[in-house]
Amino acid sequence: MIKIEYGKGYSDQTFEYKITIQKPMTVGEFIKEWMAERPDEWGYFGIYDYGRTIFGNPQCKYSDGKIITDPIPDKYLNAEIDSVNGSGGWTRSDFLFKLMKDEPESNETFGEWIDHDGVYRCSECGYQIYTSKALLPNECPMCGHTMSNCDEEKTNEV
Ligand SMILES: [Zn+2]
Repeated sequence: MIKIEYGKGYSDQTFEYKITIQKPMTVGEFIKEWMAERPDEWGYFGIYDYGRTIFGNPQCKYSDGKIITDPIPDKYLNAEIDSVNGSGGWTRSDFLFKLMKDEPESNETFGEWIDHDGVYRCSECGYQIYTSKALLPNECPMCGHTMSNCDEEKTNEV
């Protein structure tokens, strides 16, 4: 299910779309459903590449219910959509898919166990734990942050 509401309008009479999809939905499912629903439209489908290109990368062009350029590779078509942005007007609609797996891992916030003479303190929330270095948990029990200096230490000791 793809639901589109019109958002902000531009001077060329195109609009930003507010798109709601029934999750989970893959890029391929969205494309198939959209082309079946709007067989008279044309435009671009693209994979969000952090704003480096307007239509995304990879991307493809569609018209009259068919992909008319090289299609987007299967590994993207089979990927689950996290969010989709779109815009259009008249008979044109462009879509940019942000993928689930595309969440940058670096966005995760890491904490660190700081050694204070045998007491370890969470760098994020200050939680203190009295234990040996080998038994430090991977996650702070108080704030839930993943501790960046924990896994490594344990691996080194093996
Ligand atoms: Zn903490």
